[in-house]
Amino acid sequence: MEVKTSDNLKKLPPYLFMEIDKAKRKAREDGRDLIDLGIGDPDTPTPKPIIQALAKAAKDPANHRYALDAGMPQLRRKIADWYEDRFKVKLDPGNEILPLLGSKEGLAHMAFAFLDKDDVSLVPDPGYPVYNNATLLAGGRPMAMPLLEKNGFLPDLGKIPAMVLKKAKLMFLNYPNNPTAATADRGFLKELLAFSRKYGILVCYDMAYSEMCFDGYVPESLLQIGGMRDNVIEFHSFSKTFNMTGWRLGWACGAPKALAGLAKIKSNIDSGIFQAVQWAGIEALELHSEICPQLNRMYQQRRDVLVDGLRELGWNVTSPKATFYVWTKVPAAIGSIEFCDRLLKRADIVATPGLGFGKYGEGYVRFALTQDKVRLEEAVRRISERL
Ligand SMILES: *Cc1c(COP(=O)(O)O)cnc(C)c1O
Repeated sequence: MEVKTSDNLKKLPPYLFMEIDKAKRKAREDGRDLIDLGIGDPDTPTPKPIIQALAKAAKDPANHRYALDAGMPQLRRKIADWYEDRFKVKLDPGNEILPLLGSKEGLAHMAFAFLDKDDVSLVPDPGYPVYNNATLLAGGRPMAMPLLEKNGFLPDLGKIPAMVLKKAKLMFLNYPNNPTAATADRGFLKELLAFSRKYGILVCYDMAYSEMCFDGYVPESLLQIGGMRDNVIEFHSFSKTFNMTGWRLGWACGAPKALAGLAKIKSNIDSGIFQAVQWAGIEALELHSEICPQLNRMYQQRRDVLVDGLRELGWNVTSPKATFYVWTKVPAAIGSIEFCDRLLKRADIVATPGLGFGKYGEGYVRFALTQDKVRLEEAVRRISERL
């Protein structure tokens, strides 16, 4: 007897990067010198004091047991202090902050906490695939909100059909944005708050890149603009901010009722975050003002190398004010997958085709600034000479 996977699992979209992954593996096996600008994973190590905090806490037997599902009070207190310092909003560590095993975990579990069969979640397209796929796994129906360049890659809320709005319970949005590197201004955030309240939609606002910003631009949070609302929950992450992608630490904050729903799902699935990682997280937030400006200077220099280099080759590239991505039109009349295949085969450069983030991503390519300046200069040279 063959055991079949669930219908919900079968609904997941096909994995589009199969061919590229295969070509990438082959290129590595052939000993070719790849410049990997594909994955959004910081290339520089976690800062030493954070590692030291982990090592110290790992030696203490008090941290070897199941952690509290709600996270350590010390971490929640530290997050509250950091948040107030950064966004000028006071959060109650008792019921307005929930630590997560990475923000992806919390984002995915939102669908299980709030969607019944055929309930709609509104998801950005192009977008981080978790919003769409977690909705499908939970039996809900994802509806795409196109992010178009002519709208600054912000969704046109007025274009969402009334029928869809009737069934919509969740809306996922992410600014500064992956993959488009777009930012949301205060006017849009205000419009979003009014809109979500009018239609009774819980906004899940993903701020994974809130600290990665340049040129004096500083992202604002939804809670900062609208105050505490019963229909807003934000997702924050240590991953990109502190070079801690592998550590699995983030948090949700906002409406206590939304957090309680999420916490109930989590308490039935995971059993808390290794406390040594939580102590390391406290250290990371403590060092925020030392670590982040330094990383941002580094990414800004890399951004300038790639953007200026591509512009010199005649590409029409927007210089991002935030995130470590450069999102730009494919400079040829071919699809994004074919273009990335060409980049890999001819220039040994790995980039991500826009189509992988949704159909409205077609025609674009995403470069992650996860190689040093010298390698990025080399990438520009190869594009110029070999493409
Ligand atoms: C990287 C990323 C995350 C994931 O963060 P974790 O905290 O590592 O789970 C969430 N959202 C977006 C848009 C991302 O790019």
